[in-house]
Amino acid sequence: MTETTEYKKALEKELSLLESELKTVGRKNPDNPKDWQPTPTDLNTLQSDENEVADSIETFEENTAILKDLEIRYNEVKSALQRIAQGTFGKCSVCKLPIEAKKLEANPAATTCIKHVNS
Ligand SMILES: [Zn+2]
Repeated sequence: MTETTEYKKALEKELSLLESELKTVGRKNPDNPKDWQPTPTDLNTLQSDENEVADSIETFEENTAILKDLEIRYNEVKSALQRIAQGTFGKCSVCKLPIEAKKLEANPAATTCIKHVNS
């Protein structure tokens, strides 16, 4: 059986990885640390080349999509670490029974047991 400290290590590693990925496409909202904002494109710094403007809008839209996925995972990992701190880690949020080890090993941020996976 994997110890909680091992999950903690894995989660912390993933969190810092996610944070560095998030930093490449966005920045943390100073008013809400759970919220990440895509890096705005400063259109003023671009030359009035229409293609360049279109490209940067496209990049912004791509970043927004990437950021959204990363942010979801970031907050999942973060709340798993909070559950470790609170001593509630590894319990299904539906039935409160321990989450199967093989599920936690595959995803330490899992919040439900295999039975309640779609709840
Ligand atoms: Zn359950």
